[in-house]
Amino acid sequence: MKGKIVIARYGNSFRGVKAKVAEDHGAIGLIIYSDPADDGYMQGDVYPKGPWRPAGSAQRGSVQFLSTAPGDPLTPGKPALPGVPRLKMEEVRTLPRIPVQPISYGDARHLLEPLGGPVRPKGFQGGLPFPYHVGGTEYVRVHLKTVMDYQVRKIWDVISRIDGDEEKDRWVIMGNHRDAWTFGAVDPNSGTAALLEAARGFGALLKKGWKPRRSIVLCSWDGEEYGLLGSTEWVEDNAEELKQKAVAYLNVDSAVSGQNFGASSVPSMWKLIRAATRDVKDPKTGQTVYQQWQTRAQEQQPDPELTNAEIGSDTKIAEARISALGSGSDFTPFLQHIGIPSSDMGFGGDYGVYHSAYDSFYWMSHFGDPNFVYHVAAAQLWGTIAMRLADAAGLPLDYRDYASQVRDFFDESMKTARRRKLAGGFDEKPMISALQSFSDEAERIEKSRQETIVEVERTRVEASDRHPRALARLQRINDALLAVERSFTDERGLRGRSWYTHQIYAPGTYTGYAAQPLPDFRQALDDRNTANAKEALDRIIEALNRATETLRKARD
Ligand SMILES: [Zn+2]
Repeated sequence: MKGKIVIARYGNSFRGVKAKVAEDHGAIGLIIYSDPADDGYMQGDVYPKGPWRPAGSAQRGSVQFLSTAPGDPLTPGKPALPGVPRLKMEEVRTLPRIPVQPISYGDARHLLEPLGGPVRPKGFQGGLPFPYHVGGTEYVRVHLKTVMDYQVRKIWDVISRIDGDEEKDRWVIMGNHRDAWTFGAVDPNSGTAALLEAARGFGALLKKGWKPRRSIVLCSWDGEEYGLLGSTEWVEDNAEELKQKAVAYLNVDSAVSGQNFGASSVPSMWKLIRAATRDVKDPKTGQTVYQQWQTRAQEQQPDPELTNAEIGSDTKIAEARISALGSGSDFTPFLQHIGIPSSDMGFGGDYGVYHSAYDSFYWMSHFGDPNFVYHVAAAQLWGTIAMRLADAAGLPLDYRDYASQVRDFFDESMKTARRRKLAGGFDEKPMISALQSFSDEAERIEKSRQETIVEVERTRVEASDRHPRALARLQRINDALLAVERSFTDERGLRGRSWYTHQIYAPGTYTGYAAQPLPDFRQALDDRNTANAKEALDRIIEALNRATETLRKARD
């Protein structure tokens, strides 16, 4: 690739990763194209006849190195406010230095067809009607010129808060971005419609006299598409307050591009999300969202050879999966920078026009959700989860699921370590024992949470003088439950990317969108570096022990 202009196909990894890899290999420019096999005519009819990408459509998008750090590239780790020192462009570590241009498959075929090098390796053939070749560049000359407009501009986050009646300083945060590449009917406006609708619902309830126990914060982020700018800068600006007050962050980006419900979250929120899907109707079938979600999951069972950790999920057959959070939307600063339990969800479908001018009202009203009923379901689900977190006497966060998920991640990583003959380089016993203690303590606090809720209610009804004591105990349990996720963060940050502090969840360095659970440990195994693996494992053990201690203190 040295000295060459590279052409790469969209898919698998985040486009910024493609830019980084091209640059690291000495390329002087990168063209990224959308292949018709992925979201064009190989999938079905193209716009305006169908929902798939037409020949002239290119996928826009940021090529920031998101897995290094999101947010304003000039102020890593700090809020981009007036007066905050900014890096010079030459000092920036999260932007590519080579020009990158997305193009359509209509244009890409003129560059790909004449390539006269060897026939493509297995897996490289896409949907254009000729055998793909790699190299043979003497047949193709490209003049690549991009016009960039690097400027510091003002962006606007819109934040609104409904104060909690009893616990004003506990915040349940809902967020969605407002900026779009063009019209953005799906991304993000389906989510914005759902946010506004949930807000309208809260407004109607408030007028009827409802008051949430805890505060609900509604956030409309700006600048997400450029690299999660609005959310990252807001979290960096309010980090200390958020660490004290945030209960959870509920993200919705593209709320609706079809009818298939999907969610990602930390394991402590799995039961909460599933319970909400049991109480909201699937608009098409009249069943619950949960039933429709399960039926679909059973029809498309993943490869039975794959373990839970490999598919990054809690269950594969008994219940539909909730996946691990990677990156690519505004939950990243909340979860992976400061350790706030987070989720992301929406209804997906045949969506071939991502980040193009065809993500339009016409697309939505013809293909995505012609009657806008899934928009309603998205608002109902999101609002329900927020209200349950805001109103429940005992916080519905369950760390038993977290413990079993981390154990699965670890077992899976150890299989890799043994296969690569790296397992001799570190001792797995302290990790096994840390996992066991965390799991035991998660079991205890859940039992005590349930008993205390009953006790609080009983002593209240009986007007017993033991009521204040029961209340204080529940408060301690709640405080512990919201502090556990924070315990998983380590100020030292991940290797080579210190902005990411979470020891369990991070986007993969070479994936960008997809999660790489136990990130530094897995990376060290991929790099076949046992010294790094040992150090990474030690930090994970420390994090687990901090989490166990946080839970244990609630018992005192
Ligand atoms: Zn989006």
